[in-house]
Amino acid sequence: MRFLITGGVGFIGCALANHLVREGHHVRVLDDLSAGYDPDRLDPKVLFTRGDVRDVPKLWTLLQKVDCVYHLAARVYVEQSILYPREYNDVNVGGTVAVMEAMRDAGVKRVVLASSGAVYGEQAMQPVKETHPPNPQSPYAVSKIAAEHYVFTIGALWDIETVALRIFNAYGPGQQVPTSHPPVIPQFVKQALGGGSLVVFGDGSQTRDFVYIDDVVEAMVAAATASDVDRAIINVGSGRELSINELIKKVEQATGRKVHPLYNSAQSGGVSRLVADISLARRKLGFKPRTDIDKGLRLLLERDPQFAAKA
Ligand code: NAD
Repeated sequence: MRFLITGGVGFIGCALANHLVREGHHVRVLDDLSAGYDPDRLDPKVLFTRGDVRDVPKLWTLLQKVDCVYHLAARVYVEQSILYPREYNDVNVGGTVAVMEAMRDAGVKRVVLASSGAVYGEQAMQPVKETHPPNPQSPYAVSKIAAEHYVFTIGALWDIETVALRIFNAYGPGQQVPTSHPPVIPQFVKQALGGGSLVVFGDGSQTRDFVYIDDVVEAMVAAATASDVDRAIINVGSGRELSINELIKKVEQATGRKVHPLYNSAQSGGVSRLVADISLARRKLGFKPRTDIDKGLRLLLERDPQFAAKA
């Protein structure tokens, strides 16, 4: 098959692109490199174009003869979105509308949208099912719900098959650790290996659903060809709930280092509990997460060059 992956140099997109070319597919990637990842991470068989996802003429060119689009290009940090909501709206919503408009004009038949578990916000019932009403707590979460609506609405009007995957907290090799708003797992591993204190926002009792990158890629691959997924919203998580304090213990076990948590005030935009119900993914995509947190942390330490040398 022929794919276009927007945001395909980033953490999830690069893993997906490299997997697809290894399976013999043709893959084009569009990325503006704003997240700072190096396009050399991509397998040489991936055709990389630097550009903005809102550039419709460029999209239109890249979409010729494409069977399926993975739309991942986005600004991705909850806390940053609180400071820069306009930027999040412009890229995440505007970018999605641009992709759908270009797909309509180029006659592409399917799009898989990378949505987020963040759309659920605070929910009384856990694990969260796709039928739970969204309760966004940040501009990032709002932008993802808006993107879902645009994808489904424009898709229905123009006969484009649309699937939204609500990905929970993905982690694994190849995820960078920016100085501001770093994702929790690589940040904790970095702090554990580097010594010093490990900063926790809140009391550490808040829970998340951490899903290993290979499992995310597997769900995404299935979403491109599965039947009966048109206009479906599907959770992609591990289905396991882990508190931040439990995660600290897991990081200690995996790294063999004792860490010293330093508890700071909670960040806004966060929620107290979040875990995915993945029964729909199991039914529609044959999804079965293979890598639990212990194995995932081991693989991260082995395979990620930024940690392997220090582990
Ligand atoms: P990432 O930041 O690593 O990748 C996003 C990529 O999009 C980056 O390479 C960035 O340069 C690119 N990009 C940003 N703005 C762009 C623009 N205007 N034009 C072209 N490219 C642009 O993020 P990720 O973790 O790989 O996430 C990928 C997608 O999955 C995002 O849509 C994100 O919202 C979603 N998602 C990720 C997670 C997670 O845990 N990583 C969870 C839920 C949803």
